[in-house]
Amino acid sequence: MKVVVVGGGIGGLTLALSLRARFDDVDVHVYEAAPEFKPLGLGINLMPHCVRVLTQLGLEDALAEVAVEAQEFVFATHNGQIIYREPTGLYAGHPYRHFSVHRGDLHTVLLNAVLSRLGGDHVHTDHRLVGLTQDQAGVTATFQASAGSAIAPVEGDVLIGCDGVHSVVRKTFYPDEGAPVFHGINMWRGVTRMPPFLSGGSATRIGALFLTGKLAVYPIRNAIDTEGNQLVNWIAEVNTEVRSPVDWSAAGDIDDFLHYFEDWKFDWLDCGELLRKGENVLSYPMVDRDPVDRWTFDRVTLLGDAAHPMYPRGGNGGAQAILDAEALAKALEATADPREGLVAYQVERLPVVNNLVLTNRTTPPDTIIEVVEQRTNGEPFENLHDIISQEEIEEISHRYQRAAGYDKETVARK
Ligand SMILES: Cc1cc2nc3c(=O)[nH]c(=O)nc-3n(C[C@H](O)[C@H](O)[C@H](O)COP(=O)(O)OP(=O)(O)OC[C@H]3O[C@@H](n4cnc5c(N)ncnc54)[C@H](O)[C@@H]3O)c2cc1C
Repeated sequence: MKVVVVGGGIGGLTLALSLRARFDDVDVHVYEAAPEFKPLGLGINLMPHCVRVLTQLGLEDALAEVAVEAQEFVFATHNGQIIYREPTGLYAGHPYRHFSVHRGDLHTVLLNAVLSRLGGDHVHTDHRLVGLTQDQAGVTATFQASAGSAIAPVEGDVLIGCDGVHSVVRKTFYPDEGAPVFHGINMWRGVTRMPPFLSGGSATRIGALFLTGKLAVYPIRNAIDTEGNQLVNWIAEVNTEVRSPVDWSAAGDIDDFLHYFEDWKFDWLDCGELLRKGENVLSYPMVDRDPVDRWTFDRVTLLGDAAHPMYPRGGNGGAQAILDAEALAKALEATADPREGLVAYQVERLPVVNNLVLTNRTTPPDTIIEVVEQRTNGEPFENLHDIISQEEIEEISHRYQRAAGYDKETVARK
């Protein structure tokens, strides 16, 4: 079977590895638009649901070398009052770790594994998909190089669109869909070199959008210098009608958002200082797409952001692409006709992930903070449990975990 994988991001590379792990005779080729791979992006959280997949692919040690092992999620108000500390990964009794990692480091781990297991001749950079056709016999993909030079068309038995939020494969089947949907929230992201805070492996979420804005702050690299500093990733979310380009590499300006957070100074974190010392500041709008009810069209299917672009909240953009890759490889292994495999993959994954796309819009895990800030009107609380019970906090968190599939029962069952 020849598999044409369009897009060498997180989903495409994990798919190549998953297919190689399950088939001796599969001929997988990854086609990536970028002229060369660069370690782009900032932080990504990998919770136990997708770390299970990466561990089973033999990548746990390589990830542990570059990532920070998260120990807990921390939810705090904009006053810095901690509402809830929830253990995660091994600390929560999962059999798999939770890694917080630089996307570039995760990508490098995946790419090195693909190059060593499949060989460099199975990875083709500077191949931008511009069209595809299919018939009874197979699928044909047309690519363009960045210099505009012609590339011979590529044929395969199936083609998997792992080409991200601006997917050309998706556009083939949904030509009138338009741009990703903007809901009036912008994100600025960056990294700061600083000493470890809280546990040194705390994935924190602070504040509520309806008041001012919210922050997510977590370390993604350990011991980056002789003083033991970490590289700490942060994301500032603010309600605004100003739209940044839907481009993961677009530069941001600290003056556009610092004032929302400048006076958030707690005994465990000085948010103003964190942001002021930020490097590589990027701006990205909170966009997704309305879920569609079909990803598979005969010999072609969609995977990752191409299938279900979601708010990059709750740590699930990368994770769900990784879970898709495993499910698709498994479905192809289970049938002699790859077209049936693509349908079975859609049947398994589409309802789950479409539900998560909507959940990320309405009730991400930091709803816990939103509820507390609403009930206190943004004022400090004296006794948390007069405001919200422990059961209610845990129910909000567990509901999201179940939707995303990183609750203990689901991870253990897999
Ligand atoms: C440069 C970059 C930086 C990112 N930074 C972050 C981040 O800091 N934090 C975060 O949470 N998420 C980030 N993301 C998004 C995140 O990687 C995805 O949401 C998630 O991992 C799902 O993976 P994916 O493989 O579906 O998409 P992606 O990882 O986005 O991969 C899609 C790949 O397809 C390639 N591609 C696009 N169009 C074509 C085409 N026509 N032909 C061939 N190849 C094509 C792209 O160049 C890219 O390599 C980033 C994505 C990119 C591309």
